[in-house]
Amino acid sequence: MSKPVLVIGGGPAGLAAAHALASVGRNVTLIEKEDRLGGAPILSGYAKLVPSGEWAKDAIGGMVGRVEGNGLVDVRLNTTVKAFDGTPGAFSAILSDESKIDAGAAVLCTGFTHFDPVNKPEWGFGTFQDVVTTTQVEQMISSGNGVRCPSDGRKPKRVAILLCVGSRDRQIGREWCSKVCCTVSSNLGMEIREELPDTHVYIYYMDIRTFGLYEDLYYWRSQEEFKIKYIKSRIAKVTSDGERLIVKGEDTLVKRPISIPFDLVVHAIGMDPNVDNLLLSSVFDVELEGHQFLKRASTYDSMAGTSRPGVFVAGAATGPETIDDSIAQGQAAAMAVLSILSQAAAE
Ligand SMILES: Cc1cc2nc3c(=O)[nH]c(=O)nc-3n(C[C@H](O)[C@H](O)[C@H](O)COP(=O)(O)OP(=O)(O)OC[C@H]3O[C@@H](n4cnc5c(N)ncnc54)[C@H](O)[C@@H]3O)c2cc1C
Ligand code: SF4
Repeated sequence: MSKPVLVIGGGPAGLAAAHALASVGRNVTLIEKEDRLGGAPILSGYAKLVPSGEWAKDAIGGMVGRVEGNGLVDVRLNTTVKAFDGTPGAFSAILSDESKIDAGAAVLCTGFTHFDPVNKPEWGFGTFQDVVTTTQVEQMISSGNGVRCPSDGRKPKRVAILLCVGSRDRQIGREWCSKVCCTVSSNLGMEIREELPDTHVYIYYMDIRTFGLYEDLYYWRSQEEFKIKYIKSRIAKVTSDGERLIVKGEDTLVKRPISIPFDLVVHAIGMDPNVDNLLLSSVFDVELEGHQFLKRASTYDSMAGTSRPGVFVAGAATGPETIDDSIAQGQAAAMAVLSILSQAAAE
């Protein structure tokens, strides 16, 4: 029997890679450090996904189901890789439970870490209970409890969504755009208005990056159909007058200071490099790029390659990615694995 392929990380990218490899008869060992598969959309309880509108638990849950139900995929939960040695076609790994497994190749699908907005203290997260993150609002919606102010459970009458929290911010060393949060925020705004039609939703932005086909589906639709208001601004701070939260800053279109009260302030948090990346880089002997995401060997030639032959990478491990691109990269990495394993077998 051929050696299994080690897939590390059971999010959309890892699930896609594992399924693609198993569907051509390859054995896969899927290593996931948490107690469930599904990655960020399941672990963080996302609600309806962009752009399909499907609930995350159905869309990504379906991907989990087909991998868990596949006899060729050996799923190891609550597990990490401690050591990894060898050459393409003949690697061996030691896992955190001390078991040893052989592998033909490895695919790192270890994703990202959500930005923690306590690192942006002037915007009120961690100080005021009713300053929350997009993931918290996703959870309020997906749990069926509805969007409420954590301080007292009331329905918010006025909601502000602040974009680029932990992205495009050189002061805190996060220069990158997290790619999906403009679209996710427009979508969340529409979901809030659907549930609470009397609630006013404002989105504070630097630029709107509802890229590609998302411009009319999210940016224009959220304004024209759902009456969400967009304020081009620079935010100074989020404070409280004792009753409501106050978002203070400058309206950069009219160049005037603005100070507007809200019941709920939502941070559209960005995608940080996985906090494990230094360790992963050392265990798998692969290079990181300048921001500490995992580095791709090349952009066009072998997109799934890393600096180490036989070790591949896919999804948000390489930088901010959407779910559909992460899935596509997982499948591309599976193809690259098959190619290198057939070369190794021929030698
Ligand atoms: C608030 C928010 C909402 C979003 N909504 C959407 C949306 O609607 N549509 C969309 O296209 N994109 C959305 N995204 C982006 C989406 O989360 C990513 O595209 C997607 O999760 C990337 O999949 P992945 O498999 O690469 O990584 P992840 O989902 O991060 O999965 C990585 C997996 O690897 C595991 N792992 C990590 N380190 C290790 C390790 N050392 N050993 C073993 N396992 C490990 C993790 O536990 C996790 O299960 C959103 C992002 C945010 C922040
Ligand atoms: S996608 Fe939008 S909110 Fe997210 S970092 Fe880029 S510009 Fe900011």
